[in-house]
Amino acid sequence: MTATGAPTAAAGSRFPAESLARARRIKLLLLDVDGVLTDGAIVYTGEGTEIKAFHIQDGLGLKLLQKAGIEAGVITARESAMVRRRVEELGLAHLFQGFADKLAAYEKVLAGGGLQPEEIAYMGDDWLDLPLLTRVGLAATVADAVPEVKEAAHFVATRGGGRGAVREVCDLLLEARGLRLELLRNFLK
Ligand SMILES: [Mg+2]
Repeated sequence: MTATGAPTAAAGSRFPAESLARARRIKLLLLDVDGVLTDGAIVYTGEGTEIKAFHIQDGLGLKLLQKAGIEAGVITARESAMVRRRVEELGLAHLFQGFADKLAAYEKVLAGGGLQPEEIAYMGDDWLDLPLLTRVGLAATVADAVPEVKEAAHFVATRGGGRGAVREVCDLLLEARGLRLELLRNFLK
């Protein structure tokens, strides 16, 4: 931390040293949908279905993460066919829809065995996410989260929900494992 309280970037990295240390142990990234994978807007069509917009850079980040052996999944209070479609498209390991009690979904993950709380990261943007954010090894949030969530988070992305904030967490997790540059090299051939 600096005198102003802002986190200090680790040497040779754009990420804070404390976030990198926490990120190094993460094996699963869980994400809220509305306000994290989207900008929070819920658009209704005349037919009564919902439309959500996802960011393409988040998509590649989540694919790279899985390539690196880090699983990902979503936990959302709402239910939407579009979320299912996006999760399937990205091949994410977990999809919990209709979980207003997000802790219940988290406990299902823990009950599945194999993972400790310090091996799980969660990214959320609102009060509903606080119970999870205060339990996981790496609590992440978006630039436009509510103030209480920003205060509870270990890592605050510079970008907002649905604007590439998830990609920043993916990059952080890859960098912590020393895999970000290696994966990047595959695109520079
Ligand atoms: Mg949300």
